[in-house]
Amino acid sequence: MQVYFLGTGTSQGIPVIGSHHSVCQSNDPKDKRLRVSVWITWDDYSVVVDCGPDFRQQMLTSGCSHLDAILFTHEHADHTAGLDDIRPFFFKQGKDIPIYGHQRVLNNLKKRFDYIFETENRYPGAPGVQTFEVINNQNFQMGSTDIIPINVHHGNLQVFGYRIKDFVYLTDVKSVDETEIQKMKGVKVLVVNALREEPHHSHFSLQEALDFIHLIQPEKAYLTHISHLMGFHEEVQQRLPHNVFLAYDNLKITL
Ligand SMILES: [Zn+2]
Repeated sequence: MQVYFLGTGTSQGIPVIGSHHSVCQSNDPKDKRLRVSVWITWDDYSVVVDCGPDFRQQMLTSGCSHLDAILFTHEHADHTAGLDDIRPFFFKQGKDIPIYGHQRVLNNLKKRFDYIFETENRYPGAPGVQTFEVINNQNFQMGSTDIIPINVHHGNLQVFGYRIKDFVYLTDVKSVDETEIQKMKGVKVLVVNALREEPHHSHFSLQEALDFIHLIQPEKAYLTHISHLMGFHEEVQQRLPHNVFLAYDNLKITL
């Protein structure tokens, strides 16, 4: 399995438009972060988690040329606003692109991208999707592989993370119930959000993410959904435990 970090930034991306913050003005490519997403490939499958406003650029940079599915974590714009840009995959592959998400998220997409879901008088240039509802405690399959939804909380909002084999991807998490911790046991690679050092009402701070990693005990953990307020990549990385890494855009890992 290969995991490609398409974007590792928080909702505004880094640099933030108009910002004079030193991290936003850094020349280190690792300090430039698009909106958060990963591209996961295994066997013949090619899947992205979320589809934010940088999706087009991310597909071009990563060289992704085939898309079997999008797994959505939740409906916030930094995770969904790029949905129209699946058009090239739809045209090339000649069939609806499967999208997976909580029913609330699918309903939200239907409202915001009504033309994509239109069944009558469809505009010929619109992309097509096939929706699959993700239900808590119900695994689903891609080929022979189980996809395990992990139900977590982003402040008051429900969010799904996903476990695929020994890989767990969790973003926009502030709290996790004990039942969900069990679903992550034995995982080799954990990706989890860490916004900044200061606490935030709906995201793990750096310390909260480190405490969570200590609880799950993966072999390696990667931090994502990072704000410019976290600091410079190189400086923050030096302070992390030996098996914890700040993810950065275009980082590829193999499991
Ligand atoms: Zn987000």
